[in-house]
Order: sequence, then structure tokens, then C-alpha cells
Amino acid sequence: MYDVLIVGGGVVGCAAARALSAYRVNVCLAEAADDVAFGASRANSAIVHAGYDCEPGTNMARLNVAGNAMFDELCAQLDVPLRRVGSLVLAFSQDDLAALQRLYDNGIKNGVPGVRLLTAEETHAMQPGLSDKVTGSLYAPTGAITCPYELTCALCSNARENGVRFLMGSPVTDVRTAGDHLTVTAGEEQIETRFLVNAAGIHADEVSALCGDESFSIRARKGEYVLFDRAASGFAKMVLFQAPTAMGKGVLVAPTVDGNAYIGPTAVDQTDKDDTSVRPEAIDELTATASLSVPQLPLRSPITLFAGVRAVPSTGDFIVKRSEKNPHLIQAAGICSPGLSSAPAIAKEVVELLGEAGLVLEEKADWQPLRRRPKRFRHMSPQEKAEAIRRDPAYGRIICRCETIPEAEIVEAIREIPGVPSVDAVKRRTRAGMGRCQGGFCMPRVMELIEREAGIPMEEITKNGGASRICVGVSREEGQA
Ligand SMILES: Cc1cc2nc3c(=O)[nH]c(=O)nc-3n(C[C@H](O)[C@H](O)[C@H](O)COP(=O)(O)OP(=O)(O)OC[C@H]3O[C@@H](n4cnc5c(N)ncnc54)[C@H](O)[C@@H]3O)c2cc1C
Repeated sequence: MYDVLIVGGGVVGCAAARALSAYRVNVCLAEAADDVAFGASRANSAIVHAGYDCEPGTNMARLNVAGNAMFDELCAQLDVPLRRVGSLVLAFSQDDLAALQRLYDNGIKNGVPGVRLLTAEETHAMQPGLSDKVTGSLYAPTGAITCPYELTCALCSNARENGVRFLMGSPVTDVRTAGDHLTVTAGEEQIETRFLVNAAGIHADEVSALCGDESFSIRARKGEYVLFDRAASGFAKMVLFQAPTAMGKGVLVAPTVDGNAYIGPTAVDQTDKDDTSVRPEAIDELTATASLSVPQLPLRSPITLFAGVRAVPSTGDFIVKRSEKNPHLIQAAGICSPGLSSAPAIAKEVVELLGEAGLVLEEKADWQPLRRRPKRFRHMSPQEKAEAIRRDPAYGRIICRCETIPEAEIVEAIREIPGVPSVDAVKRRTRAGMGRCQGGFCMPRVMELIEREAGIPMEEITKNGGASRICVGVSREEGQA
């Protein structure tokens, strides 16, 4: 019997798991995929929003501003990158300036620290290379960038270290009330739990319906991106928005914590909740819009395209509450943007809701909030590198040349994956395959290490779970030949 079953291993579910791991409660997280960070949490804009664009008085506004303020401590504890680069919303017309004034007023009402309106001159001084059509901007110094999948994986590792069980490859397909608890079918297992936290992302309406609560629905809205090579990305210093539209926050130009730059996302409504393909026309659409902000984009240097799917709730706001239909159910649903920014605050609120619902929350004396792992090889000084190689020769074998990732870090990542290791699960934890060759060099070597460390035959290793086998139709002998 678990006290809490969390459904969904995205940033919200993993943040809730980690927050609960600080208490003497028995927690399990069930995830349909073979790894965490498989849904929206692996492909988004990676921005810790300041919180001025949410309507005052909404859950989004409250949880975004509170979540943003929690990021410094959280990322320091989990050794996850966070850069407070600040954000600008650019205006190109009088209408845009009026929109910026509304965002500024929202920011003041929402309690966003330091937000202010800038003239055209101040804006150009802050971010060189902008279009000369920019007439002003809204500046938010607390706008930041992080790595969403690294954060999600780190939350998972730390929660596991503190006793949470992660049940991977286990979709929740049935929920029954049995007296004072629920009986839940998750993959092959029947789980008894007092409470269920619904953090199932785009499928949270379906999980809610399984629990007898059909009070909301979720629509899918895809966002596509173009990512540029690091060597051509120096132009992006800050997060650059354009004045928002009814479809969202518009197309951004922004840096990543790893030194790349990207343009995106698009906003395309679709019926398939799991379709993360990129439409061919997305590149032209993004380029045309993003060039309004930065005319000299490095259009000869894209290294990949990717897409994520937003979970747009029928309520227009995050649904974070105890269900009125099922007292065992705590909703953390409809978490579209700014869900990444809000995740730490949503997790805190989920814990409070469970406490109000009767869960006894006694703090663990031995809770370990720090994720302990060796310094990354690429961040070491030459002396530190030499010392690391002397201690463990696997540091001297570089598997991913673009990102300088040694065998030792790949092996550490394979051991950390809660489910069945795949090439992308290793990539999310190490960056192997994220450089300009996009895995052309390192993928076979990563596969060899997965085979060696996890005992998965080469022909069964997948790119990213499911049916994405890499060696399909090739016998072992043929492959080696
Ligand atoms: C294009 C785009 C850009 C965005 N940009 C930003 C941004 O810059 N800043 C920001 O703050 N937010 C942003 N967001 C929003 C942010 O990505 C999401 O709010 C956040 O990732 C949601 O996390 P989650 O854990 O709720 O959902 P997810 O990450 O989708 O995780 C849900 C998990 O539940 C699992 N699951 C589903 N059904 C079941 C089931 N039946 N049983 C078991 N498991 C199940 C799924 O496999 C998945 O792993 C963006 C989103 C998109 C798509």
C-alpha cells in the first residue's frame, strides 16, 4: 500500500516526487514511457519565465512567480544549470507598446521583481543585433534559462535516492475505488494507494476520467523549433520575445544553457496528442517571424529541428487542487506554459493539498536534498582532467567528440536511468549526441556501452523507447560487418 501514487514522470511529477521524498511517506511514480522527461518536459523553450504574462489572480500567475523564485536553490541543490540572462519582450509598433504596458501592469500585480519598460535605445544597448524596427521593450531581470530534461532527470535521481519508487514503462489504464483507497493498474502491476497525484501532462484529462472526474479536457498544441550550432550562436545573449498573441507567447530567439541558440516555437493545434513531428514548412515560418527580432540569424547553421506538444486545458488555467469528484485524487493537470517555471511551486502545493487531505507529513531527519555527482569532464581544468583520467581511465575515452563526453559519464548515466536505457535517455543525461554531428559519431559507441552495461542486445536497443529500434532488420554479424 502506497501513501501516494504519482502518475507521470515529467517535470511536475518528478518535482512532486522529490518534494514528497522529504517526508516519511511511501511514494511510487508510474510513468508510461521507459524514461522520465518523455513528454512536454523534454522539448520546450527551457525558459524560467518571470511571470508578467499570466493573468493576475490565476494559478498560473501565482505559481509562475513563486516557482521562478525557487529555481536558484533548486538548481544549486541538484547541480542543474540555471542562467538568469533576463528577458525582453520587443515592440515593433504603437499597438505593441500598448501590449507591453499591459504586460508591465500584470507584472506589477503578479509581484514580478524588477520588471520595467525600456526605450528603443536602452533595448539595443542591452541586446546587440536587434532589428532597427524595435521601438521599445519590457525587461524582466528574473527571466532565466535552464535545461528542462536535465532538471527532470535530476529531480528523479534525487527522489529515487530518497526512497521514491519509479515504475517505468507502466501506463496507468484503470483506477478503482476500494474502500478507503484506490486500486490502480499500472502496466503489469496492481497498486494500492491512498492518494493519486495526476501529473500525466497532455493525457491528464484521460487519467482524471479514469478516476471518475471528467470536469476538464486537454487539447494539443504543437510547438516546433530550429536549433543552431554553438559556433554560430553567440548573437543570443538574452531571451527575446515578441508581443504575445492569442495562441501564446509568440516566436522567441533565445540562448540555451549549453551555448546554442534557437528560434521557436510555432503554435499548431492538432488532434494527435503525441505527434512531435516537425512540419517542413515550420522552418520558413519560424525564420520569417524570428527575423523580425534578429535580422541576421545564422540560417546556414541549424543542427536540428524538434517539437513539443503543449497541454492546453479547457479551464484556461492550471488545475492544481483536490478533485471534487474523487477525494483520493489530487490534480496537477493542464500544466501548459509556464509549467516548467511553475513546477517547483506546483510540487510544493501538491504536498500541501495532500496534507490538507489527511496525509501525515512528518519530515525525514535523513533527507538528502543534494544530488551528488562528479564534476562534468567538459567543465574541468586540464589538471582536473588529468587527475580524473588517472583515477578512472574511462574518463580518457571520449565517446561524444562534439560535446567532449567521456565513457565514464555515459556509464554513470546508463546506471542512473530508472527504466530501460535508450540512446536518447543517455543523451538527456550527458549531452552525447547533441552536438553538431547529432550523434553521427557517438551513437554506435553509446549503443555498445548500453549493451555492455545494461545487457541489452544491440539489435534491441532503441533510439527513444517504443518501436524506435536502430538495428532493425540487420543481424548482429551483418551489423558488425
Ligand atoms: C513548445 C512548448 C514550449 C514550452 N515552453 C516553456 C517554457 O519556456 N517555460 C515554461 O515554464 N514552460 C514551457 N512549456 C510548458 C512546459 O514544458 C510544461 O508545462 C511542462 O513540461 C509540463 O510538465 P508535466 O510534467 O505536467 O508534463 P509532461 O512533461 O508532458 O509529463 C507527463 C508524463 O506523463 C506520462 N503519462 C501520460 N499518461 C500516462 C499514464 N496514463 N500513465 C503513466 N504515465 C502517463 C507521459 O508519458 C509523460 O512522461 C512549454 C511547452 C511546450 C510544449
